[in-house]
Amino acid sequence: SKPVRHIAVVGAGYVGGPTAAVIALHNPHIQVDVLDKDPRRVRRWNSPHLPIYEPGLVDIVRVSRDGASARLRDASTEDTPVDRIPNLFFTTDSQTSLAKADVVMLAVNTPTKTFGVGGGRATNMTTFDAAAKEVALYARPGTIIVEKSTVPCGTAQRVRKMLDEVRPGVAFEILSNPEFLSEGTAVKNLMKPDRVLIGSAKTPSGRRAAEALANVYAAWVPRPRILEVNAWSSELAKLVSNAMLAQRISSINSISAICDKTGADIDEIAKSAGIDPRIGSQFLKAGLGFGGSCFRKDISSLTYLAESLGLPEVAHYWSQVNSMNEWQRDRFAYKIIQRLEENLVGKKIALLGFAFKKNTGDTRESLAVDVIRVLLQERPGEIAIFDPCCLSEDIMRELEPILDATNRERVHVYSDGYQACQQAHAVVVINDSDPFRQSPAQQLVKSNIDTVARTPYYEMSTHSTHVALEEDMVIEGSRFSYRPGQSPICAEDCPDCQSVKLRGTMSSEP
Ligand code: NAD
Repeated sequence: SKPVRHIAVVGAGYVGGPTAAVIALHNPHIQVDVLDKDPRRVRRWNSPHLPIYEPGLVDIVRVSRDGASARLRDASTEDTPVDRIPNLFFTTDSQTSLAKADVVMLAVNTPTKTFGVGGGRATNMTTFDAAAKEVALYARPGTIIVEKSTVPCGTAQRVRKMLDEVRPGVAFEILSNPEFLSEGTAVKNLMKPDRVLIGSAKTPSGRRAAEALANVYAAWVPRPRILEVNAWSSELAKLVSNAMLAQRISSINSISAICDKTGADIDEIAKSAGIDPRIGSQFLKAGLGFGGSCFRKDISSLTYLAESLGLPEVAHYWSQVNSMNEWQRDRFAYKIIQRLEENLVGKKIALLGFAFKKNTGDTRESLAVDVIRVLLQERPGEIAIFDPCCLSEDIMRELEPILDATNRERVHVYSDGYQACQQAHAVVVINDSDPFRQSPAQQLVKSNIDTVARTPYYEMSTHSTHVALEEDMVIEGSRFSYRPGQSPICAEDCPDCQSVKLRGTMSSEP
């Protein structure tokens, strides 16, 4: 296959940005352009303040984007300083980049459709189709078009049809190359992926295209980890991975409800089940359920696929994973209400953590939103939110759909954890961020967006590949006022608080 010299990644989001950065890092001879139609996002990618936070990302971007000499601690660079010519560019000028690209990766957002046929389940392909059309218009003949976004099965055929309409008679090859990274560990996942999946048409030109893309990854990924499959398998495999991960969370959460009504302890159950190597211990932590922009939407997409294939039993089976997840969140919110004697009027509830999990500032599908929605119905005095990783504007945007004239002034975002907890009647830990895990009082003071953003990459890379997510949710039942130096979350045996522990954690997300 022809060597790849120029890659254009369409969509500078959570997937497009980090993926492009890691490809560029390991392929100094390839120019990687990341295109986004949002000029503000592009400006931030070109600044010292990247639009997304991922541990280690800034170091990699500095090397590939700025040509900075940097010490990167990972297996492939063995601690050696790297000196480079910049080969990573962020731009809004898609036409120029697309016209030069040997490979175009589509990494735009593919949310759930909210209207019309398949509303609430099917994937809204408007953005993806628009991006594909732009590629069809400006790409050179022979360009390899890669689906990086998570898309429904059969999208390769759909793109092929569109290309035939927009550029009849011009040959393009279409590959599926879904992304399996998890937010919060994106760099680690990209540097050492469990697998790279490349789906192609089983024709000579399809295989050649797959080989060309495989060579790009082979710059740092061991060959046996690069799996070449057919396009349908590749598209479906991504949905299945997410569905099965989410299914484990809903399974253990369903058992946590039984535990709450009996003397059984969900952590003991999870440990006992997970120790069996056939089951495994990951993704078996009961908690609030899964959040984030992928699990729910991908399960909905799988459900819709099964439905449209005339398999209602299969659709029903998987849709239960989402239903259980929603139910668990409501159950948690009602527990808080019960603990406060079913009277929240005039009371202050502090919520620590808003991002859908730790080490990310991503507020999409935050589990806190549903909890806050239920709490607001009880007309609390104040809901005080603190998350050092999130921008206040992102938090408020996420809450917008549940706010109205009567409850808007009850919700406040704090930039100081102490102030958020001051005079609170209950502190609810929503995610498993380190500041909330370790000695909360000290960490709350120290943690702010700066210290989090400065976490060097090597610190992350010393963790195990899949960080076990484990943190107990803690809510405090009785009023407590709180002074700096004193933990806002009381010990289990604190007689003043008689704090109750609700087992759980936020779950992860690929
Ligand atoms: P995102 O919303 O963070 O980023 C998408 C970007 O695409 C946005 O910046 C948007 O402005 C840009 N965009 C949209 N249309 C465009 C166009 N025509 N031209 C140029 N730019 C355009 O989304 P994301 O979280 O990065 O997800 C992208 C895809 O990857 C989705 O299909 C998602 O399911 C999948 N995915 C996400 C994750 C994750 O953890 N976020 C993991 C694996 C896969």
